[in-house]
Amino acid sequence: MKIDIVTIFPDFFRGPLDYGIIRRARENGLAEITVHDLRNFAHDKHRTVDDRPFGGGEGMVLKPEPVFECIEALNIAPAGERRSARQSVVLLSAQGQRFTQSVAAELVALDRLVLICGRYEGVDERVGRHLADRELSIGDYVLSGGEIGSAVIVDAVTRLIPGAVGNEASTRQESFTGGEAVVRASSAEGSPPSSTCSSRGLLDYPHYTRPAEFRGMAVPEVLVSGNHEEIRRWRRRSALEKTLSNRPDLLDGAELSEEDAILLGRIRDGKSKI
Ligand code: SAH
Repeated sequence: MKIDIVTIFPDFFRGPLDYGIIRRARENGLAEITVHDLRNFAHDKHRTVDDRPFGGGEGMVLKPEPVFECIEALNIAPAGERRSARQSVVLLSAQGQRFTQSVAAELVALDRLVLICGRYEGVDERVGRHLADRELSIGDYVLSGGEIGSAVIVDAVTRLIPGAVGNEASTRQESFTGGEAVVRASSAEGSPPSSTCSSRGLLDYPHYTRPAEFRGMAVPEVLVSGNHEEIRRWRRRSALEKTLSNRPDLLDGAELSEEDAILLGRIRDGKSKI
């Protein structure tokens, strides 16, 4: 997959793209990430990319010409052909649709993803309307630029590229992940459930590692019992409990089985303790 990032601060990406899964994916050729300096597409000797807003008001606005010219230099398909070319141009924006795990799963199906980072008061609206295919926001807060948001998107998308994460099943079981990869292998009685329980829209279950007892804090006994079915049930109950406590909004969209509904009822009645 090819990812292009358009920014006025290319050096910003020296850190975020150079560690762990992203670094390996780049080295293995799974992700080809290129950072483009928007100022290279300015036309004056001061390399100006911003200007005052029409209509007055605070701050500066990123001009449309350098952004359009930069995207054109990348040989991206024209807007009408992008979907069939499996390409997408995304503008980072606090006013965009929320970037979620399911959007990450959508983006990883692309051959080419272009991320435009705004700055100042934002980007001339013609970029969002006529150049980008969509605007994405990483959350309901205002950042000073689109760089951190782009790094977030690159991270979330890259780790979904097949082969990027050593154990692929682990990306299926994580928080927010939908039911498409549900518990196939683990449903067989007696097989270890470790990495094959899809969260089916819930938050992930709690993880523990050695030592089994640390400063008087013991890991839940069921996890060292070797009883795979008990472990599976405990993990599901824990995921339900955590979701109910921290993100009850996710329960509406989650795929809940009959067993889940019973567990959830018990948790709500205060009868179930992890
Ligand atoms: N005036 C704008 C904020 C501009 S912040 C507003 O009120 O909506 C400058 C740039 O930071 C934006 O153009 C965008 O690229 C980036 N940015 C800010 N908040 C963001 C968010 N929540 N998600 C993604 N990008 C964001």
